Amino acid sequence: MKVVIVGAGPAGLITALNLLQRGLKPLVLEKQPEVRSTACGEALGLCWLDEIPFDSSPHIAKRVTGARLIFPGGNFDHIPKDSAVLNRTEWLRGMAEEVERKGGQLLLNSEVTGVAGSHIRLKDGREIGYDVLIGADGPTSRLARRLGISHRTIVASQYKITIDTSGMDSLEFYFDKRFSFGYAWIFPKEGTANVGVGGDFAHLDAFLQYKGLDRQPILEKEAGVIPSSGVNGCLARQKIALIGDAASMPNPAGLSGLSSIIQASRLLADNIENLENYQRQVKSHPMADPALLRGGRIMIDLGNRDLTYIGKFFAGVKQGEGHAPRVTRIIKYPRLLLKLNKLRKVYRAGKMAMDYGW
Ligand SMILES: Cc1cc2nc3c(=O)[nH]c(=O)nc-3n(C[C@H](O)[C@H](O)[C@H](O)COP(=O)(O)OP(=O)(O)OC[C@H]3O[C@@H](n4cnc5c(N)ncnc54)[C@H](O)[C@@H]3O)c2cc1C
Repeated sequence: MKVVIVGAGPAGLITALNLLQRGLKPLVLEKQPEVRSTACGEALGLCWLDEIPFDSSPHIAKRVTGARLIFPGGNFDHIPKDSAVLNRTEWLRGMAEEVERKGGQLLLNSEVTGVAGSHIRLKDGREIGYDVLIGADGPTSRLARRLGISHRTIVASQYKITIDTSGMDSLEFYFDKRFSFGYAWIFPKEGTANVGVGGDFAHLDAFLQYKGLDRQPILEKEAGVIPSSGVNGCLARQKIALIGDAASMPNPAGLSGLSSIIQASRLLADNIENLENYQRQVKSHPMADPALLRGGRIMIDLGNRDLTYIGKFFAGVKQGEGHAPRVTRIIKYPRLLLKLNKLRKVYRAGKMAMDYGW
C-alpha cells in the first residue's frame, strides 16, 4: 500500500513512524527546504512522548513537574503532571532521520498544490500516485479545503527570551484579559523560556512589561494560528485522511496540539486500511468531547472580575479539600455562585485538557 503524507511537522512525522512500525513505508512530502518547527511553546506531558516509537529524550530541553495557573486574585499553585519543554526543531529533525533510517522517504522542497483522482500534483509539476493520502499540512491545510472543511483559528504570538530558569519547576499559565483573550504562558527551558500569549505582539509586549521581562534579550519572535473549533468536522473521505492542525485537533480548552497528534496518529496507523474506523475512533476519543469546546468558550467570555474571584477561590482552598466548584465552598463568592454551572463546565474542560490534551 502506498501511503503519502503531506507535511513533515509533528503530525506527519509521528504518523510516519507509527506506519513504519506496522510494516508500511510511507512517503513524506514537505514544502520547506528543511524540516523546522512552526511557532510552538514546545510543552507537553511527558507520558505522551513514551507513546511515540522514537526516543525523544535527547530533545527535551527541560523537565518540569507540573503547572501553575495564575489569576489576578490568586493562584492554583501546583497541578502535578510531569511535562517536557522540547527543542522542537531538533526533535522533528531526529524523527525525520529515524523515518528515513527505517525505510520511509522524505522529500523536501515538495509543495503539494492539488489532488486529482489518485494522484497529487506538486508545485514543480511532478505527479505522485497514492493509495492513501494523509493531510498533515497544518492549520491552513490545502487537503482540508479539498475535503470542504474550514476551521476557526486564533492567533498566538511568542518570544524566546534569555532568562534564569534555574528555580522554575512548572509551566506557568496566566489568565488575565489585559494580556490575552485566552491565556499567556511562560514555559522554561535551560537559560531561556518561551513566553507567549493567545493574541498579538502588542498583548505579548504588555505581558512582558507586567512580568518585568521586557529588558530580557529576545532570541526569536514567532506567531502562528491555532485551530480552535475542536474535532467536529470530517476527518476522512474516500482515500484521504486528516490529522493534527489540518483536522483541528488542538484541544479547544487549552489550545495545545501535540498530545492529540500523538494519540490520533496511533489510531490512524492502526486503521490505515479503514479510514472510516479512524474517523469513528477519533470522534469517540475524549479529544473530540464537545465539553472541551463548551468550557473553552465560557473561559474566553469570563472577564477579569470573574477571574479575580476564581483566583481568590483557588487560593483559599485548603489542602485535601478538592478544587471542584461546589455550592458549599463557593458560597463566599456570590458573583461566582451565580455562574456555578458555567464554572463547573470550565472546570470539567480544564481537567480533561490536563488529562488528555497536554
Ligand atoms: C504560538 C504557538 C504556541 C503553541 N504551543 C504549543 C505547546 O506548547 N504545546 C502544544 O502541544 N501545542 C502548541 N501549539 C500547537 C502546535 O504547535 C500545533 O498543534 C502543531 O504544530 C501542529 O502540528 P501539525 O504537524 O499538524 O502542523 P504543523 O506543525 O503546522 O506542520 C505542518 C507541516 O506541513 C507543511 N506543509 C504545509 N502545507 C504543505 C503543502 N501544501 N505541501 C507540503 N508540505 C506542506 C508545513 O511546512 C509544515 O512543516 C502552539 C501553537 C502556536 C501557534
